Amino acid sequence: MSTAVDQERQFGAHNYAPLPVTIVRGEGIYLWDDEGRRYLDMLGAYSAVSFGHCHPRLIEALTRQAGTLDILSRVYSNDKLGPFLARACEMTGMDRALPMNTGAEAVETALKAARKWAHKVKGVPDGQAEIIAAEGNFHGRTIAVTGLSTVAQYRDGFGPFPPGFKTVPFGDAAALADAITPNTAAFLVEPIQGEGGIIIPPKGYFREVERICRDNNVLLICDEIQTGLGRTGKLLAVEHEGIAPDAITLGKALGGGLVPVSMFLARKEVMDVFNPGDHGSTYGGNPIAAAVGLTALDMLADGRLVRRSAELGDHLKARLQGLNSPAIREVRGRGLFIGIEIERSAGTATDVVLALLKAGVLTKETHRNTVRMAPPFTIERDEVDQVIERLAQALETLGSKKGTGS
Ligand SMILES: *Cc1c(COP(=O)(O)O)cnc(C)c1O
Repeated sequence: MSTAVDQERQFGAHNYAPLPVTIVRGEGIYLWDDEGRRYLDMLGAYSAVSFGHCHPRLIEALTRQAGTLDILSRVYSNDKLGPFLARACEMTGMDRALPMNTGAEAVETALKAARKWAHKVKGVPDGQAEIIAAEGNFHGRTIAVTGLSTVAQYRDGFGPFPPGFKTVPFGDAAALADAITPNTAAFLVEPIQGEGGIIIPPKGYFREVERICRDNNVLLICDEIQTGLGRTGKLLAVEHEGIAPDAITLGKALGGGLVPVSMFLARKEVMDVFNPGDHGSTYGGNPIAAAVGLTALDMLADGRLVRRSAELGDHLKARLQGLNSPAIREVRGRGLFIGIEIERSAGTATDVVLALLKAGVLTKETHRNTVRMAPPFTIERDEVDQVIERLAQALETLGSKKGTGS
């Protein structure tokens, strides 16, 4: 075992259990370990490296800005933030944007905005605002957001959680309608549940959700941190549903895979509840984040990469379905955002992830015994085919292992 891994284990908290590989370099869709072995990165840092590792255009934006102006806090304006926010609003159809760093912070910002909007605009009595989320959600790891989670492990030992949150089943619009009260501020939901197992809700669900929210003066906030920025084959996953949420959150790929950049975007009426001093972040919207974020958005603006995600995602999904493997229970996804649910009788998603690792393909399991794939959009068709070949072999070894009773 390498010293670096020993040190990580000895001096780090054990809040992750890394796979047995030590990566030292990345380029495009490839990663290399400390022994020079090359891997296809099919996880893409959970959708943070949509442009491929160390993309020259993003590196250029990062290093140029780092050598010009670093960080000065939002108490002064800088020349990069405005263009970044303008571009983000223009591309998403939102009126205003508030930059943060991590996804969880963008979600916290959404929760604060929704609560304040409810109390100051909707007329909910002070301190009574409620926010509804979906069962199986993932919105990050802060205390409030963990309080929204329905995953036992994410919550265990971390309470008490703030009041004013509840959950309803994902995909069940009637349950949302039932849960809404006069004090409901917002419904916070992922267009496709990522961490939850790449779960796509029933057709028509979101149109119904949008109507229910409008009828009840409840904000519809879509968490596009993982699904946004082309991941599902559209710039925003809500475009598949033909809905216009009141607010969205972005993150992950917004930082180009280089720096943490996230954002809460909303209609004016929602964002304008924030006054100077109400909310902030030391690094949020710093010139380096803004320069890299603007470049990331520029790289998506002509739609070419988003179309690639749609086309190669279709190809990947078709090839996976074409495997006709008894070990695969279901293939779900849109664009290059795909979950492969493994038959429990055949083995665990972790078995498949480890077999793929040996075969030079990096993935990671998620809930519902599902292998998640979210590779960079720069992946080539023949690289998708290589992944399919190696997965087919991995599924076979899985089958034979069971067959020999081991
Ligand atoms: C990853 C993720 C988050 C949290 O982002 P962090 O940067 O890890 O805090 C929030 N929501 C969704 C949908 C995510 O996938």
